[in-house]
Amino acid sequence: MSEHVVIIGSGPAGWSAAIYASRANLHPLVFEGAETEDNRVAGTLPLGQLNLTTEVENYPGFPSGHLHEYIRSAVAKDRVDTYLEPLHEHPHAVTGPELMNLMRQQALNFGARIITDDVVSVDLSKQPYKLTTLEGKTHEALTIIIASGARANYLGLASEEKYKNRGVSACAVCDGALPRFRNKPLVVVGGGDSAVEEATYLTKYASAVHMLMRRDVFRASKIMQDRAQANPKIQIHYFREVDEVLGDEKSGVTGIRVRNNREGGTHDLAASGLFLAIGHTPNTAFLRGQLELNAMGYIKYTTPLRTFTGKEGVYAAGDVADDYYRQAITSAGTGCMAALDAERYLAAKGL
Ligand code: NAP
Repeated sequence: MSEHVVIIGSGPAGWSAAIYASRANLHPLVFEGAETEDNRVAGTLPLGQLNLTTEVENYPGFPSGHLHEYIRSAVAKDRVDTYLEPLHEHPHAVTGPELMNLMRQQALNFGARIITDDVVSVDLSKQPYKLTTLEGKTHEALTIIIASGARANYLGLASEEKYKNRGVSACAVCDGALPRFRNKPLVVVGGGDSAVEEATYLTKYASAVHMLMRRDVFRASKIMQDRAQANPKIQIHYFREVDEVLGDEKSGVTGIRVRNNREGGTHDLAASGLFLAIGHTPNTAFLRGQLELNAMGYIKYTTPLRTFTGKEGVYAAGDVADDYYRQAITSAGTGCMAALDAERYLAAKGL
């Protein structure tokens, strides 16, 4: 039997869609992603990019406070024990992992069903649509909400690839506390909010953090720029790019060859880690030729203020279709819209 609503993805867009679809009695089936080493390295584990961040200070409804009691009372104990402990006992804004586990729990409470697997291909040539998972199972769906998000970019240097997991990372929160980074100088590339967030987080462990920016203009919001500039452990280097990641077999990363892109020339910075924060790529490879994408690979919306895609009954929500706003709250908003669009489509078709 075909599913009424299948949701692919488990960030704020996916769970918001699941909450709305469940409450509309559509019994959505959510593919939250597989817990594999490949997904860990690519930054595409369940719960999305927010699960890789620290505090989410701008998500409405969560001013800083004593959230630990609330989280322990709201989220299933096994999830808290496995994914959230130790909870911060001091007042804090909700963290990414806390927020995502709260959303997941809320979807479960209303009856969403969850499969911890990736969707690796879809057949959208005719209805009902077909989906195949990493484990090789197939499912049919009358409507699909694609909320598979985006993942961090790398520079594409051979030396960067060589030292991935041995000093090169795109997630300070995941890897920053590793012994190899403690009390050592580290390098962060990028000038956006993510770069400032990563650099600030790394100052907890590093002796110094060098931010390399290819221009002398931040993309980060003013409050985040100020935070970077005021932090005595962060040194900002403008017009600098990574020429090569230096290292050896035994130690992994030992330094970064930095190129001055304005005046020319390179110099070597000692560093035991390189953290990339240079933007994102949408997770749309599994759609291979099935759905219209833009030049950067994001799903194209076909109608203003609707989550419609090029296929009837297929909706997109969150970062997979958004190269512009990319906020937790905008993702959650489009997740809600996608569920309402799916519900109205099914009702109109008498399904
Ligand atoms: P972003 O805003 O697109 O910034 C990307 C940065 O990487 C830019 O400084 C860009 O430089 C640089 N860059 C790109 N490609 C590069 C390359 N090949 N070599 C060197 N530098 C390169 O991305 P983001 O920081 O990930 O932020 C994405 C979205 O998430 C934004 O909307 C942001 O507001 C949001 N976000 C918010 C928070 C928060 O509010 N706390 C935290 C994280 C993210 P150029 O400027 O020169 O292109």
